Amino acid sequence: MTPTYSSAQVQRPLDALTNWPHRPADGTPVGMAPITNPATGEVVREVALSSAGMVDAAVARAVAAAPAWANTPPLRRARILFAFKAWIEENRDRLAAVITEEHGKTFDDARGEVQRGLEVVEFACGIPQLLKGELTEDVGTGVDAWTVRQPLGVCVGITPFNFPVMVPLWMAPMALACGNPFILKPSEKDPSASLLLAEGLAAAGLPEHVFQVVQGGIEAVHALIDHPMVSGISFVGSTPVAKAVYERASQHGKRCQALGGAKNHLVVMPDADLDAAVEGLMGAAYGSAGERCMAISVAVAVGAVAEPLLQKLRARAASIRVAPGMVAGADMGPLISAAHRDKVRSYIDLGVSEGAELVVDGRNPAAFAQGEALPAEGFFLGPTLFDHVQPSMRIAQEEIFGPVLCVIRVERFEDAMAVIAQHPFANGVSIFTQDGATARRFARDIPVGMVGINVPIPVPMAFHSFGGWKASLFGDHHIHGPEGVRFYSRHKAVTERWTTAAGNASAFTMPVAR
Ligand code: NAD
Repeated sequence: MTPTYSSAQVQRPLDALTNWPHRPADGTPVGMAPITNPATGEVVREVALSSAGMVDAAVARAVAAAPAWANTPPLRRARILFAFKAWIEENRDRLAAVITEEHGKTFDDARGEVQRGLEVVEFACGIPQLLKGELTEDVGTGVDAWTVRQPLGVCVGITPFNFPVMVPLWMAPMALACGNPFILKPSEKDPSASLLLAEGLAAAGLPEHVFQVVQGGIEAVHALIDHPMVSGISFVGSTPVAKAVYERASQHGKRCQALGGAKNHLVVMPDADLDAAVEGLMGAAYGSAGERCMAISVAVAVGAVAEPLLQKLRARAASIRVAPGMVAGADMGPLISAAHRDKVRSYIDLGVSEGAELVVDGRNPAAFAQGEALPAEGFFLGPTLFDHVQPSMRIAQEEIFGPVLCVIRVERFEDAMAVIAQHPFANGVSIFTQDGATARRFARDIPVGMVGINVPIPVPMAFHSFGGWKASLFGDHHIHGPEGVRFYSRHKAVTERWTTAAGNASAFTMPVAR
C-alpha cells in the first residue's frame, strides 16, 4: 500500500463547520449545500448559504468596526499581520489538509498554495512604507501640498473554488493593511479553509468583525454587491460571472476588480531547451488537474519542433500518476465535482469529433493509477493530450479547466503570436526559446497580462501584481502587490497655506504658483 501523509501532518482539521460563523440572530440561510471530498465522492460536511438579511447583518458589523480600524496606525495593523503570518506558518499543514480534503489537489500542491498566499501577507506587513504619501514644499510661496492614501471602506472578496486559501489571501491582507474591514464570500464548494483564515486572524489579534466570512452562493454575492455600505468588490472566478459582477458593481458606481477565466498558451520555439519545455508543460498543464487559472492548456509548436515535442509529451503524460491528493507521490488528484469531471470529459469527446488527434486519452483514469485502485466514487480523470488542434476548434477557444493539453502546430513565430493575440482570453502566456531577441519581442508585443520566458507558469510574486487582460479581467487594477494598495485605498491631495505673505485678496482666475 502506498504511504500517505502522516496523521500528525494532517490532523483532521475541522469537525463541525456547519453554519459557523453565522449567528441564528442574523436570519435563516436560504439553504444548505453539501461539501464533497472529490477523492472519495463522500459528503464531508455542509455549508449554510447566507440570505440577504444575513449579509446585511455582517455588513452592519463591518461598518461599526470600520472607524476604529481605519484609525489604527498602519504600523499596528502590520504587527497583527506579522502575527497572522506566524499563525499561517504554524498551521500550514492544517490549511493544506483542508484544501486537499475539499478541493482534491495533492497535499504538496496545497502546501505550495498556502506558501503563495503567505507571501501576500508578508508583503502586506510592509504597509507603513507602502502607504507613504508624497509631499511637495512650496508649490507656491508659503504653500505646501501632499497626497495620502486613505481606506476605501467595507471591502468584499468573492473567491473561486480552485485556490481556497491563496485567492482570499490575494485580497484580505491587502484590504486589511490599507485600513478596511473585509468580508470574504468563499466558494461554496470548498469553504472551510476560509474559516481557518478567520481563526488565524482572530488569533493574531485582529479586532472583532474587521474580517468576516459570509458563506453562500449567488444570493449572498448579489446582496454584497448591492449593499449601499459596501465600497469595494474584488472577484475571482469564471469570465461570465466576473463580467456580470463587474457590471453590477459598476451600476452602483462601486470600485470593482473582477478576474475571470483563462486559456493560456506556451510557445515552443525550434531552438528551445526541449526537455525544459516538456517538463514545464507537464506541471503547467496537469498540475492541480488543470484547475488553475494559470494552467497552460495550449502548446504552440513552431516549425520542426512539433514532432520531437509530441514524442516527449506523449511519453511523459503517459507516466503521470493519478491518485487521491493525500497519497504521497501523486502528481494529479481528482477534479472538483462529478459534474465538472463530466464536463471536462465531454470536451475530450468534442475534441475527437472536431477532428483533433487524441494522443493520450485521460477518460480512463485507472490507466494512470500505476497499479493502485482509485476510489470508485472519486472524480478522477487522467491527463489528455491532443495534437493537430486548430485555433478555431472549441477545445482551443474555450476554457476547459481540466487536465487537457492541446497542441497547435504553426509554421512561424509570427503565426504563434497571431494565434495568441486573436484569443479572447489574455491571462498568462509563455515562450521557451534560447534567443533573446525573440523573447524580447514576445514579451513586448504579446497582448496578454502576464508573460513567462522559459518559465511555464508566470505567476507574479506577491510584491508585483497579478492579473490578465481582455476577457480575463474586468476593471482597472490587477490584484495584490502595488496594485492592491491602489485598489484598497483612495488617493487624497491636500494643499495648505499657513502664512498670509501672499496676501488674502480674492482670486477669480485659476490659482497659479507665485
Ligand atoms: P465561478 O465563477 O463559478 O465562482 C466564483 C465565485 O462566484 C464563487 O464564490 C461562486 O459562489 C460565485 N458565483 C458563481 N456563480 C455566480 C453567479 N451567477 N452570480 C454571482 N456569483 C456567482 O468560478 P469557479 O468555478 O469557482 O472557479 C473557476 C474559475 O475561476 C475558472 O474560470 C478560473 O479560470 C477562474 N479563476 C481565475 C483566476 C484569475 O486570477 N484570473 C484565478 C482563479 C480562478
